[in-house]
Amino acid sequence: MSDVVVVGSLSVDFTARAERLPVVGETLIGSGFATAPGGKGNNQAIASALQGVATALVGCIGADHLGDMIVEVFDELGLDATHLVRDPSVPTGIAHITVDAEGRNTIVIVPQANSLMSTERVLDHEALIGSARVVLTQLEIPVEATHAALTIGREAGSLTILNPAPALQVDDDLLRLADICIPNEVEASELTGQKVIDRASAISAASVLRDRGCREVVVTLGERGAVYVGPDATFDVRAFKVDAVDTVAAGDAFCGALAAGLALGASRAQALDRASAAGALATTLPGATTSLPTAGAVESLLERGRDEALPYG
Ligand code: ADP
Repeated sequence: MSDVVVVGSLSVDFTARAERLPVVGETLIGSGFATAPGGKGNNQAIASALQGVATALVGCIGADHLGDMIVEVFDELGLDATHLVRDPSVPTGIAHITVDAEGRNTIVIVPQANSLMSTERVLDHEALIGSARVVLTQLEIPVEATHAALTIGREAGSLTILNPAPALQVDDDLLRLADICIPNEVEASELTGQKVIDRASAISAASVLRDRGCREVVVTLGERGAVYVGPDATFDVRAFKVDAVDTVAAGDAFCGALAAGLALGASRAQALDRASAAGALATTLPGATTSLPTAGAVESLLERGRDEALPYG
């Protein structure tokens, strides 16, 4: 049994670093290259597991060497890889990323195996998903698979969390299945048609999403923290002051740590504090999975408090 079950995407990120991003038709000589597992499902599952919570991921990868790389990392981190579907008919998903000297990036995602997640494949793991305390899912797999995961979680009495990323329009049917919905500013704007730029507009968008069916909404606001809007309370989740070098995977760290905290029985406010600390820590190191913090790192930042900047590394 896993306390947190993530149903989502896995990919391998190919990241090239260059002084600047190339323009159309241009070939540049880069300064660095890294290959590492990524995908929102993968990152959020690792973020949860690093908080010391038994975590499994249901997702689809190819029967190729990139799939092998993902499984090896799962084994190293003690994540349950037995629920990964390996489909020999399709390659593992990839992300092709270019990062410039200032940390700006361009990303091309090719979903490949992720696009073969389906209702049927989620239902194959119904017993696992239904036994979880927390079911966490995103929108990098076909929406029918996300829908199926949340339906199983809701019917079994698990806490269901939807991170509606990347930014897409979704039906109210899907939002009604989410106990907690966690969009960032871009996703909240896309979902509601209201521009989210600050705390007030985030609270307004959260109210729209609650009217459309989510029970609780957390809108993340990068270095400004997040706002929580639920049936009984609205409150700010303050950010921790850190020296950010690369904000990739901050949202994944936040969602994974929140799911882990809630699976451990923390209150909303406590779990959101841990999530905010995890999101902040993820910005202090480069990369996606390589920047996700352990429970110990989160504890240290919580003890240190929010106002003193954390040095790089
Ligand atoms: P996403 O990565 O999905 O765009 P955000 O950028 O909103 O998500 O980040 C998620 C959370 O991570 C924020 O709510 C905040 O708690 C934390 N965070 C992100 N960037 C920073 C930062 N520069 N400093 C401190 N905390 C941050």
